[in-house]
Amino acid sequence: MAKEKKGVRLEHISKIYQDPKTKKDFYAVKDTSLTIEPGSFVTLLGPSGCGKTTTLRMIAGFESPDEGEIYLGNEAINALTPNKRDTAMVFQSYALLPHYNIFDNVAYGLKLRKLDKETIKTKVMDILKLVGLEGMEGRMTNQLSGGQQQRVALARALVLEPGVLLFDEPLSNLDAKLRVSMRTEIRRIQQEAGITAIYVTHDQSEAMALSDQIIIMDKGVVAQIGTPQEVYYHPSNEFVADFIGEANFLRGKVTGQDTVDVGGHQVAAETSRQGAGQDCTLVLRPESATLGDAGQLPCRVILSCFMGSYQNYHVMVGDTLVKITDFNPKSKKIYKVGDEAWVAFTKEDVHVL
Ligand code: ATP
Repeated sequence: MAKEKKGVRLEHISKIYQDPKTKKDFYAVKDTSLTIEPGSFVTLLGPSGCGKTTTLRMIAGFESPDEGEIYLGNEAINALTPNKRDTAMVFQSYALLPHYNIFDNVAYGLKLRKLDKETIKTKVMDILKLVGLEGMEGRMTNQLSGGQQQRVALARALVLEPGVLLFDEPLSNLDAKLRVSMRTEIRRIQQEAGITAIYVTHDQSEAMALSDQIIIMDKGVVAQIGTPQEVYYHPSNEFVADFIGEANFLRGKVTGQDTVDVGGHQVAAETSRQGAGQDCTLVLRPESATLGDAGQLPCRVILSCFMGSYQNYHVMVGDTLVKITDFNPKSKKIYKVGDEAWVAFTKEDVHVL
């Protein structure tokens, strides 16, 4: 459906704003370089204020970078106004025309481009089918649910056949259940339309479910770029490990090839990037550890809670709190508060920072 899938390249992009209180300039985005492959679904993820919306708005042309250059395909686009760029944006607020019906909302951009009536009709009907609004074209947009309004917003962007589709937290106004079903829909539609998508969210599960690549931002800079699996299993630092899912951090010292001393106990861990004697941190996901009568690290149970599919434990390993989600508890020994036990995990279960 899209004319041409386009990649996006940011080369040393910075955006400087003035803090309204202190009147001091600060970098909302600092020296960011990244490449987004044509046809991929990429998410900009990070906490509030990390610069993800500013990055998206610079790609759309609503903000201009103070430093660096943005490329759409092979074209440098800094100097182009938003309507001259081969992008379309889906907003959190939908931004639909309230006194128009669905058809006219979706047709609006095509009419501005002065396409003939028949072509407009064919394109609009094709897109409404794709987003699951076939047969509803006569409905006024103020008579629609939030999920339906978001589908209209998506159709209105897609009908322009942009090279790149931009999403600014499009599901934030929907309830939790609808958010989950809509994100599956967005992924299906993106794949069927065969379009490049850049999606801003602060919701890590949304990013995991949707993305080919996740770009994690922290204080205006890129903290890591990778597939959902890469950023989850091989986070580049503690910020990423903590932001994506839950993580336990165990402080240790590398004592030899693939061994780390944690509180006097030798733990197997992949240490190829660290040297002997170096301080390090082990990242252990709660679901990667179990509790047993034997294991790697001795602990004391301070919370034991049955959650149905898993037993939720909080244990102290020395002074460090470790959270464990022990799945399928029916078949296992259950430890109670005050019990002494061992945290068990394999070399593959820990990631060394
Ligand atoms: P959120 O999830 O809350 O939308 P974000 O990661 O999208 O956050 P941005 O909207 O990109 O963050 O903002 C980055 C920083 O720039 C924030 O500190 C924000 O307050 C600031 N900022 C954004 N727009 C402006 C502006 N027009 N003038 C001054 N500061 C701004």
